[in-house]
Amino acid sequence: MDEIGASTLLLCKQCAAALVVEQGAKYATCEYCGTVNFLDKSEVVLHYAVRPTIDGDQAKASLRRWMAGNQTVKGLDTAARIDSQEFEFFPMWMARTEDRGKEVIHLKPAAALSIVGLGELRVPASDLMPYDDSLDDQAMKPTVPVTALRSWLTDDEGVAAGAIREISLVHLPIYQFKYYYKGQTYTALIDGATSQVFAAIYPSKFELPYLSIAGCGCLAYFVAAFIPLISTFTLGSNVVESAGVGIILYLMVAVVLAIPIFIIAASVSRKF
Ligand SMILES: [Zn+2]
Repeated sequence: MDEIGASTLLLCKQCAAALVVEQGAKYATCEYCGTVNFLDKSEVVLHYAVRPTIDGDQAKASLRRWMAGNQTVKGLDTAARIDSQEFEFFPMWMARTEDRGKEVIHLKPAAALSIVGLGELRVPASDLMPYDDSLDDQAMKPTVPVTALRSWLTDDEGVAAGAIREISLVHLPIYQFKYYYKGQTYTALIDGATSQVFAAIYPSKFELPYLSIAGCGCLAYFVAAFIPLISTFTLGSNVVESAGVGIILYLMVAVVLAIPIFIIAASVSRKF
């Protein structure tokens, strides 16, 4: 793993056999001589991959479900044309650090992101497997060196240099889709372990009808607020009594106004 600048093998102190290291473990028992080794992980980088739990078809189905969901414009699932589908393992740095006795996990992309939201990827600890060279064809090479990760931890995350317990490179399974909708091409990524959809730009619900409903609603309530003022000076001679009647009138109007606004909003959300 020269390209990221660290070794990935931990050797038995007794017999120098390679140790099988569990994620987050402090000790590893040598499979050959049985020696229990304390793991000094401060200078090594472990390399894992997350096993995909869905195949390409299931990823596509997740994408379609997301398209049919509430975030996106109505009818996107039927109108969009999926043009391409690719699979790759995306590299993420994962650092375990200690903060006042508590373990903290930091994640940072180890390559340039095509979609900003990928920064929110999670690493499911249970699905980690040791990285295998057979994944090389599908794995994106890390471009962020481990030194950059260390400076990010100390400078931006406020981690003391001595508090870094373990640094791992984790390759995450990602499906990338390109789809076409109304003259534009969009990208969506599906996490191959969690089926979560990541999309920074997508055809979202048309906002204007909602804004105009909100605008009309505000105006209506603004006008209604004059009722107590007007009635105070037009109803009878007792100013206090007239003001009271005006406030009651206002409350009634306010309640009645809410009904058409609600109905219009509901019909708009059905339409778009
Ligand atoms: Zn040994």
